[in-house]
Amino acid sequence: METTKYILTEKEMPTSWYNILPDLPKPLPPELHPGTKEPTILPPPLFAAAVNDQEYSKERYIEIPEEVQAIYHTWRPTNLHRAYRLEKALDTPAKIFYKYEGSSAAGSHKLNTAVAQAYYNKKEGITRLATETGAGQWGSALALGCQFFGLELKVYMVKVSYHQKPYRRILMESWGAQVVPSPSEDTEIGRRILAENPDSTGSLGIAISEAIEDAFGRDDTHYSIGSVANHVLLHQTVIGQESIKQMEMADAYPDIIVGCVGGGSNFAGLFLPWVKDKLSGKKSDLRIICVEPQACPTLTRGKYTWDFGDVAGMAPILKMHTLGHNFVPPPVHAGGLRYHGMAPIICHLYQMGMLEARAEYQKPIFEAGIQFARTEGIIPAPEPAHAVKATIDEAIACRESGQSKTILLALSGHGHFDLGAYDEYLSGNLQDYEFPEEKMKEAMASLPEVPSA
Ligand SMILES: *Cc1c(COP(=O)(O)O)cnc(C)c1O
Repeated sequence: METTKYILTEKEMPTSWYNILPDLPKPLPPELHPGTKEPTILPPPLFAAAVNDQEYSKERYIEIPEEVQAIYHTWRPTNLHRAYRLEKALDTPAKIFYKYEGSSAAGSHKLNTAVAQAYYNKKEGITRLATETGAGQWGSALALGCQFFGLELKVYMVKVSYHQKPYRRILMESWGAQVVPSPSEDTEIGRRILAENPDSTGSLGIAISEAIEDAFGRDDTHYSIGSVANHVLLHQTVIGQESIKQMEMADAYPDIIVGCVGGGSNFAGLFLPWVKDKLSGKKSDLRIICVEPQACPTLTRGKYTWDFGDVAGMAPILKMHTLGHNFVPPPVHAGGLRYHGMAPIICHLYQMGMLEARAEYQKPIFEAGIQFARTEGIIPAPEPAHAVKATIDEAIACRESGQSKTILLALSGHGHFDLGAYDEYLSGNLQDYEFPEEKMKEAMASLPEVPSA
């Protein structure tokens, strides 16, 4: 019988994170201060100092603290699987591998950075964190991370999800977090938005502003972010480094790596340790495919420019593909893919031609999710179902061309809290959304004026 999964022991887990910054052929554009709009390496004191240092570090490998490694060991290393049953169903000569991050207690990759961020804040004497969450994946991961280190957590949860998706709120509360619907009455920005529009259903950009305002207002509190930032992508590279060892065990090397991108952290975590081989020319024909929703097409239709990370303009200004910081996404189910911007590292590599991007509608992604569930067993979260769709398309292309390619898929989490969305799909009530061109123009009008940085 053939091997279906590649398992590493705790001792084989990487003990450092991989930092791409020193290996980039062109340096990453700087972050700009939200007030002065000048380049800064010292953004407002939002984060733990250690995390700030990591944001701009030139060290290729950054040691994972032992306390963090010990907690990682409760679910890491995660398994790499060979999708034999999916391959067979597709009748493809392609070899499909997937790296599954849904085995963490939070159900996704997000715990990798949540644990690290909670650790550094605790070590620096911070006793409370504030954050935002969309559908609740990040909030629940950070709630657990904070629990491991005895920190309090306040979560500003996008209002529409707070009301429609109670289960992740209950998860957060079970892990000890305080959760409020955003916009809330607890911050000035929240009150201002509610005064203008009492029916506001919220957005990630608004919730980020609320969390930042909260953190600025208290000495015991820092802000914590679940994606986009360099340090978050760094913490996720444990995924890719494990996958390199596991692909070696399988005696395979990927031709194509596929993942979904919201802010970009899970996919970067998988592909950054591999992109080194593409940059160095060791595997220059490696294809890396980023998949996003048609309803939030940041890479495929957004503009590469300077924009705020949040609605109130309190977060650093980043050079990134963006739909404008006032973007309020259509209500698609892939909640984790509805951010207006994208990790600067991903955008930079995309500009250099190192990455491909494509956008998918939600009905076909649920169809792909169902096919994966019926062959491999795991019900993917709607976010990685985007990557499953692209994987299936590439495998079918292999069947049609008769080429046998090796595909590595980032399966970032399970969909057990998204069964309502699967129900809508299965009962035929799901709608496809596209982001309309007029709205795109409207959103672009809100971009900040920046000196020729
Ligand atoms: C949050 C989330 C995403 C999207 O965020 P990235 O930073 O792009 O990874 C993808 N998959 C899952 C399961 C998520 O929870």
